[in-house]
Amino acid sequence: MTWAGKNVTVAGLGVSGIPAARVLHGLGAVVTVVNEGDDERSRTQAAELEALGVTVRLGDGDTLPEGTELVVTTPGWKPGKPLFAAAAAAGVEVWGDVELAWRLRGRDGREAAPWLAVTGTNGKTTTVRMLASILEAAGLRTAAVGNIGVSLLDVVTGDQTYDVLAVELSSYQLHWAPSLRAHSATVLNLAPDHLDWHGSMEAYAADKGRIYEGNQVACVYNVADKATEDLVREADVEEGCRAIGFTLNAPAPSQLGVVDGILVDRAFVPDRQKQAQELAEISDVQPPAPHNIANALAAAALARAYGVPATAVRDGLRAFRPDAHRIEHVADVAEVAYVDDSKATNTHAAEASLAAYESIVWIAGGLAKGATFDELVTKSAKRLRAVVLIGADRALIREALARHAPEVPVVDLDRTDTGAMSEAVRQAARLAEPGDTVLMAPACASMDMFTNYNKRGDAFADAVRELGASA
Ligand code: ADP
Repeated sequence: MTWAGKNVTVAGLGVSGIPAARVLHGLGAVVTVVNEGDDERSRTQAAELEALGVTVRLGDGDTLPEGTELVVTTPGWKPGKPLFAAAAAAGVEVWGDVELAWRLRGRDGREAAPWLAVTGTNGKTTTVRMLASILEAAGLRTAAVGNIGVSLLDVVTGDQTYDVLAVELSSYQLHWAPSLRAHSATVLNLAPDHLDWHGSMEAYAADKGRIYEGNQVACVYNVADKATEDLVREADVEEGCRAIGFTLNAPAPSQLGVVDGILVDRAFVPDRQKQAQELAEISDVQPPAPHNIANALAAAALARAYGVPATAVRDGLRAFRPDAHRIEHVADVAEVAYVDDSKATNTHAAEASLAAYESIVWIAGGLAKGATFDELVTKSAKRLRAVVLIGADRALIREALARHAPEVPVVDLDRTDTGAMSEAVRQAARLAEPGDTVLMAPACASMDMFTNYNKRGDAFADAVRELGASA
């Protein structure tokens, strides 16, 4: 592709639009950025780009500029927007920032590092970090990139050289990445999320499934989640590419799984070797909760597909530490464990962390984003000692509890102010008995009470420390 003089429209200022505009301008393209907002912040960003020679149109994200030959969009823009209809009518392709990065990799005669790609409703960031840790333990030059907060565009156009990349991809990014071809990839799980964007569960699944298209070596799926296996079957892959399953049970051939507390590989072992290859112990994985063992097995499968030895899988998993606010053990107070899973922003994630403990005082609530709580409550009821509810949509959880777990005591704080978290922790402490876990896994987004899930987790941790100090 010759970029010099090409008319490219970048849709949206922001974390992906600004780097895209800069890179494209640097390649000699004639860049116009269109942006819906026309606020203070966009004006400052626009001024910086305009100083480089980029045209910026604020306050109109719907009109396709005359002469556009390619649109590069912010992944979050919905497919139904008029801008995309106009592009389709004009026969103009639309790429996301990931597609652009994919097309630009290996430029200037540089070696293009293959991508080991991860998507799924939950567990993406954790799995990508585990994978990067394993690849590092194998002595490979690698980085955890993509949706994790490190721009792929920066990585592929930067000065550093990599052997292989551990790439987190969101369903939005996959939607706009038609030609991406990973070395190997996984869909960790599929549960309803972001349906307002994709339009339907089918469309959401289809976008996730794009990650398997054209895979070269392995399509890794979750044996316990048949929808992920179906996506592998539907994908058009390179000849010789294998379907590899991961399971928390004993693995069949072509699977990784668990036998007597050991993570084992029955997929990437030499033909003559009948028994499975041992990779690591469950206790090598932090935290050793079931869903996280599944994440570790998925990461191991991708690393093994790339040819990483078993010892590096073990060393990489041992070196891995979870990011903050993901089932993070904050402290023990009066023989009760306090765990921050503020990142459990949907019911599927909360279900996974509730499954990891036996007797729980659950702190929940926030913005439900259209979710229902019946299934979550039904599945978790027997583990709940009590529930403390906070946040805007707490009534939805309270009603589900009344329907399916009427015996569980519920304290409804009826509060959405930031101070509510410390009151919730005090109430939870009152309800908990020695040996219990107070688990803040809200199953909801945080924006009704906090700027983001990090701040919600910090508020919880502060409240636990206060509690510890006064105990
Ligand atoms: P993502 O990047 O997909 O949002 P994270 O790794 O940040 O995923 O984990 C988000 C939350 O999802 C965690 O706090 C945990 O509650 C839950 N979670 C992690 N892995 C899984 C999994 N494999 N299945 C279900 N829930 C999970």
